[in-house]
Amino acid sequence: MPEGPEIRRAADRIEQQIGGRAIDDAWFAFPELAEQAASFMGVRVTRVDTWGKAMLIRFADQRVLYSHNQLYGVWKLHSEDKPPSTKRTLRVRLSAEGRCASLYSASDISLWHAENLTEHPFLARLGPDLLSQDVAPSDVQQRLNLKQFHKRSLGALLLDQGLVAGLGNYLRSEILFCSQLPPSARPVDLTPEQQQTLAECIIDVTRQAYQTAGVTNREAWIAQAKAAGEPRRQWRFAVFERAGLECHRCGKVIERKMIGSRRLYLCPNCQSA
Ligand SMILES: [Zn+2]
Repeated sequence: MPEGPEIRRAADRIEQQIGGRAIDDAWFAFPELAEQAASFMGVRVTRVDTWGKAMLIRFADQRVLYSHNQLYGVWKLHSEDKPPSTKRTLRVRLSAEGRCASLYSASDISLWHAENLTEHPFLARLGPDLLSQDVAPSDVQQRLNLKQFHKRSLGALLLDQGLVAGLGNYLRSEILFCSQLPPSARPVDLTPEQQQTLAECIIDVTRQAYQTAGVTNREAWIAQAKAAGEPRRQWRFAVFERAGLECHRCGKVIERKMIGSRRLYLCPNCQSA
């Protein structure tokens, strides 16, 4: 399942396709949206944002099209005269100057005014988005110390979209390794310095994954891993997918565990309790 960085890159592609352009055709499958289609004529797309796994297409008239792909939705970009060949059900098509963005299969689609967006029941539960909003390490550290989070183990907490939005399973392992913390550690157990390092790793690892299309390993370690013949799915990560291989930092063998019914990879030496 795509995590925040992958969704954010998909948003960038939609923005490149129709951003800054005036809509000349809008089509919606759901009746409550379809009846508003004509009102989009001539309205410019100003920005395409994400909030966690939600896509937010922002228009010049302050309206925002919210969509969440869940497990099956997919955006396809194409020219007006070459719609994609697919058996999927079309749900939204936005066309601007011959360029189209089409959403297939998703069912969670709604229209909001920018001012009311935070009242959306899904968005209202999310923490800030690390890739679309201005979030500093001190903001994350403050959130780690909130009453509802500070006594929870990091293995569970990092996947809670209420802390910060967009973290998923590979980022969880990579962030814990970067912070040199075990998944059992709780924010309340950490020194202020450890909390600060954790907050920095949460932001840095996520932003690196966004900028590099999913590579969260360090350059020097990537070079070593490539020299050892590791495939991309292993060298792109510092620990994730690397069970049985040596830790880049200390040489001990990386372990795979199930935490919260999801795979977690760690170095038992670098991340000892
Ligand atoms: Zn290690």
